[in-house]
Amino acid sequence: MSGRITINTERCKGCGLCVAVCPRNSIVISKNSNGNGYFPAQAADTDCTGCAACAIVCPDAVIEVHRDDPANIKTIAGPKNKSRVSLVEEKA
Ligand code: SF4
Ligand code: SF4
Repeated sequence: MSGRITINTERCKGCGLCVAVCPRNSIVISKNSNGNGYFPAQAADTDCTGCAACAIVCPDAVIEVHRDDPANIKTIAGPKNKSRVSLVEEKA
C-alpha cells in the first residue's frame, strides 16, 4: 500500500512529533520558516505507506493522509475529520 500526505505548513508548529513516529522517514523539518516563525514539517521524497501515524500524533491536526489503494478510504485522517476517536476508528 502506498500513500501520500499533505501538511498545512502555515499551521504547523514544527514540534517534530510526526518526524519521530514516521516509520519510513517520509517527513522532514523544513529549513524555511512559516509566517508564524516556526520551521514546519514537510513531506520528504520517500515511500509513504499511508499508515497515518503522523496524522494521529500531530497535536494540531494539520496532516492529511491519502491512501492510493482504491479498496480503502482515500482520505483517512486529517483536520476535516471530527475527532481523534473517529480518526482511529476509520483507520482500523
Ligand atoms: S502516513 Fe505513515 S509513512 Fe506516511 S508520512 Fe505519515 S507516518 Fe510516515
Ligand atoms: S506533528 Fe504536526 S505540528 Fe508537529 S511538526 Fe508534525 S505537522 Fe507540525
